[in-house]
Amino acid sequence: MTHSIPSIENKSPTQADSYTILTFPEIADAMAHINEEHVDELLGFLQVFTSLKSDELVGANVQLTAVYAEAIALQIQFDDTKKTSTQTREQTFFIPFIAPITQMEELNTQYILLKQKADKKLGKKTIKLTKQRFVVQDSRMISKNMLRLILTVPHLNAIGDTSNHHRSSSVPINEAGYAYLFDLEHNRSVAKIPNEGADNSIDKSEQPERAHCYYTLRKAWQTSDGVQAWVDVFLHGDTSGGNWARSLQAGDSVISKREFPEKVEHLREGQALLIADETSMPTVARLLELWDNPQPPLVLCVTEDAADQTYFDTVTLGTDSINNNAANQQDNHFTVLPLVTNQVNAGRALADLIDKTLADYLTTHPLHIDKFWSALEAGTAKALRGLLQQRLGLARADSVIKVYWRKD
Ligand SMILES: Cc1cc2nc3c(=O)[nH]c(=O)nc-3n(C[C@H](O)[C@H](O)[C@H](O)COP(=O)(O)OP(=O)(O)OC[C@H]3O[C@@H](n4cnc5c(N)ncnc54)[C@H](O)[C@@H]3O)c2cc1C
Repeated sequence: MTHSIPSIENKSPTQADSYTILTFPEIADAMAHINEEHVDELLGFLQVFTSLKSDELVGANVQLTAVYAEAIALQIQFDDTKKTSTQTREQTFFIPFIAPITQMEELNTQYILLKQKADKKLGKKTIKLTKQRFVVQDSRMISKNMLRLILTVPHLNAIGDTSNHHRSSSVPINEAGYAYLFDLEHNRSVAKIPNEGADNSIDKSEQPERAHCYYTLRKAWQTSDGVQAWVDVFLHGDTSGGNWARSLQAGDSVISKREFPEKVEHLREGQALLIADETSMPTVARLLELWDNPQPPLVLCVTEDAADQTYFDTVTLGTDSINNNAANQQDNHFTVLPLVTNQVNAGRALADLIDKTLADYLTTHPLHIDKFWSALEAGTAKALRGLLQQRLGLARADSVIKVYWRKD
């Protein structure tokens, strides 16, 4: 059941009175995060759970304005620029959770359940609350600061948990940017090895141990024994994720708790621009191998250390593409525009530098960018969104900029 309240005059919504206000201190941050990074999901909720038509959502602004125990409130400001009325039309909708929230931790699960339901109705790939077990086969450095974990997924992958939320699953072989939320606690007892060459400027006592961390499936392929997979972990000091990856030995098991498909479908046609830092290089590398667009992309690769720019040296455009569109091209060359910063790649200043680097390149190489994908640090992503909107003027559906990490 979904309630809709016309609120042109911003009246206090009567339905809100029947919901339970939540007072968890973390709610404000969670709402700010969703409003900054998950607006497309909120639009999906409005499309699926309300009577609004898709064309009413074009150009509209949506905001999560309240989280109650039983529902979220979404306020939409319609784009009525084409109409003569000078009044901004607003409406608030309440989208009920599948089950009411009693603890802050349950918000994540209830939000994911709404997202799963919406994505299913929209025919989109969605996040999975699935346990997956991998076995470590080997690991090696593939550029100065990038550690490759070589993992296998044995044929029989069930790990004794057959509940609905934790089914065993298959590993996607043809998806770029498919990410796993790895359970670092599972390997905690072995993750305490001394850490040579680590940047000890990060004081461990101030850094709480992370319980889990997202890493992307760099590549996976079928073998006679099951599936083999690569996961590339950027080592940037004495941190939970890096220490977890360094400590893993052949034969260790590794468990993930959640799986997350990346939004890359818009890249199938047009001139694409991909911008990666060290954490999103694995996604971009797989995108390139699976490239299924006749036009090769422009890749802007930003690394702190010049030595990590070699990451793309062994990547060939379209080698694993299903239709072999790009691989069949005479010229399956893609351009990497390197940007070496000699500092941690975070914040607004990096966004300005990326924008300037791109502007300089486009002055000497006049390309019309039609599509864009990137994943960066939160502050950089926020600033770059505005800058690239001004520079490229792309529609919301053609421009994806994700947050892969957050600088403290
Ligand atoms: C969907 C998704 C996919 C991802 N895929 C990958 C992947 O394939 N490979 C990969 O390496 N990362 C990937 N990441 C990013 C990774 O999850 C984060 O960088 C994570 O914060 C690393 O955890 P940590 O324990 O090393 O550091 P944290 O515990 O997060 O932080 C410890 C300290 O390190 C700093 N820090 C964190 N990340 C970085 C960084 N990248 N550079 C510099 N300083 C940093 C923090 O500011 C803090 O001071 C992905 C993230 C998402 C959301």
